[in-house]
Amino acid sequence: MYFLKIPEYAIGSYFEELLEGRHNNEKNEYLITRLLSIKTTLVDAEAVYQSLALEKLLYTITEQETISIPPDVQLSGTVPRIITTEEMEKVYTSFFVDKPGSQKIGRKVYGSILSNTYYNLCPYCSHREVKTVDHYLPKTKFLSYAITPINLLPCCSDCNKDKLDVYILEDDKMLIHPYFDDIGVITWLKCKVVDNLWPITFSYEVSDITDPVLKSRIEYQFKLLKLGKLYADNATREFNKRAKSLVRVYNSNPSSKALDFINDNFESYHSENPNSWQTKMFEALKSSTWFIENALPSVQSYYQK
Ligand SMILES: [Zn+2]
Repeated sequence: MYFLKIPEYAIGSYFEELLEGRHNNEKNEYLITRLLSIKTTLVDAEAVYQSLALEKLLYTITEQETISIPPDVQLSGTVPRIITTEEMEKVYTSFFVDKPGSQKIGRKVYGSILSNTYYNLCPYCSHREVKTVDHYLPKTKFLSYAITPINLLPCCSDCNKDKLDVYILEDDKMLIHPYFDDIGVITWLKCKVVDNLWPITFSYEVSDITDPVLKSRIEYQFKLLKLGKLYADNATREFNKRAKSLVRVYNSNPSSKALDFINDNFESYHSENPNSWQTKMFEALKSSTWFIENALPSVQSYYQK
């Protein structure tokens, strides 16, 4: 769960260019004319989104599955006075996502969202590589936000799949929004070494957080995206990888060097991100009496089997 800077594009800054040179005829019921007529609607909707998100009230946003053409817009009698889900899906897929290598504005905005990351890490799980763009609020239910940059996030394939179109408009079930919810400033993740279990195993959960709504939002995301298992599996592998070095320093001076080794790793991960699974893993090793007193002397014999 990383905080990211707000996307550089706003809907109003690229919407008209997105529609340039597109078919606009009887066959598609003058789609481009209709889209141009909702530019102000989309710009206004973006401002509403932004102010609700800043006030942590995004759960009060209204769903809409079609967008109405403003009443003062003149259209010939047979032209529909709405934009449908299918039409907006097409705008997203063909005009916005487009194809790799396309020089058009849609792909440029898409690319800028994809590359706005912390070392290419998915902001939902903070672990896997960014592969795609996710709609924070699903486009089919919030049609005005289908191509609005502040509703679009860089995301890994697994989080994208696990999240799907799941959304619950309740204050304590909104996922942490990478552009609006900075949780890097609090401690939200905790980890412990499971006593008397080999290989060395870790368990992760959400920390006690004073704000109950924030705690329940993080817990909801943690469960939905199966982060506990993701982190625990990776920590077990990480420990296995480090066991050899740990044994080497332990054998040179059991009482202090092994602790220094753990502490150095903790410090270096902590300086990068106090809530990463790696930081919490080394913190758990440091503070586990079972690990320090009982397990450490046996690490060599277990991991060199
Ligand atoms: Zn992810």
